[in-house]
Amino acid sequence: MNKTDLKSLSEEELKEGLKRIGEEPYRARQIFRWLYKTSVRSFDEMTDLAKESREKLKTKFHITHLVTLDSKRSKLDGTTKYLFKLEDSNTIETVFLPEKSRTAICLSSQVGCKYGCSFCASAPFGFVRNLLPSEIIDEVLAVRRENPRAVLTNLVFMGIGEPFDNYYNVMKAVRIFNDEDAFNIGARRITISTCGIIPGIERLGGEGLQVELAVSLHSADDRVRSELVPINKKYPLKDLIGACKKYIDKTNRVITFEYILIKDVNSSRADAIQLARLIKGMKCKVNTISYNQIKAKGYNPPSRAQTAVFLNTLRDSGINAISRKSKGEDIDAGCGQLRISEL
Ligand code: SF4
Repeated sequence: MNKTDLKSLSEEELKEGLKRIGEEPYRARQIFRWLYKTSVRSFDEMTDLAKESREKLKTKFHITHLVTLDSKRSKLDGTTKYLFKLEDSNTIETVFLPEKSRTAICLSSQVGCKYGCSFCASAPFGFVRNLLPSEIIDEVLAVRRENPRAVLTNLVFMGIGEPFDNYYNVMKAVRIFNDEDAFNIGARRITISTCGIIPGIERLGGEGLQVELAVSLHSADDRVRSELVPINKKYPLKDLIGACKKYIDKTNRVITFEYILIKDVNSSRADAIQLARLIKGMKCKVNTISYNQIKAKGYNPPSRAQTAVFLNTLRDSGINAISRKSKGEDIDAGCGQLRISEL
């Protein structure tokens, strides 16, 4: 008999599952706490459940966990990239980002990705499958296990995969991250980053969750953006910006536009002026980050001076723009670098 994947259940679904096997629904809260606050990996460790209940639970539910195959820690900033093995032997990468003011985990949402962004190291490997809610949750549990003293403050869906291409499972995991009996991470501390999947932006706008939305823009010119982010051919800038405006109107939340600066591609003063025109008046901010050099991609980062001109041009136009420092570049854990090399 196939067992139910325990960590892919919401608390309500677990209550229903418990009722069906004759267990008290309130035990769902206990089980959630054991799984997500204490990070146990077996029912035997849930010591406040009667032995008989534990045995019954074992026959009906399965508790997944990831196996750490390898890790690399940055000498520059302590960023650590993990290579995890899933139960079907597929692998994913997850990045731990400790900083002074916050500690974040950068999560993958899929095994591989189908979107083929030209600057992205994940793209050439293609798409394999969506991650289950339990597997996304296991990324956090595994990183927490590796870093037991870290106080986790933020989660960002910016690893491998397009979160809106795995919408249901990602949102299910987000709700468990947010659940006070589980991880109790405030929705505002969870960021979902999309390459511009309009139906996902529309759905998120109706969720009633205060998660942060980041949209990878990378150019305000359809021709250039279609080269960098091919899904732009399906969801061109006019439609994408329209969807973002509707999202802001509906949620009253700020959107972050992510913008990877690439020399001679999208980082000139003229590019900044075009970007400022495109997003002027929107409740948004722009996070720029210099391209991380990936061999064989043929792109280069702009100089510091070019970056400064780009940022100042945006700011002069009234756009809130910051330059984000890429983390873990020496271990290929920076933006767009996951899967560049074997760990
Ligand atoms: S940047 Fe994101 S959406 Fe684009 S190919 Fe890479 S993982 Fe996929």
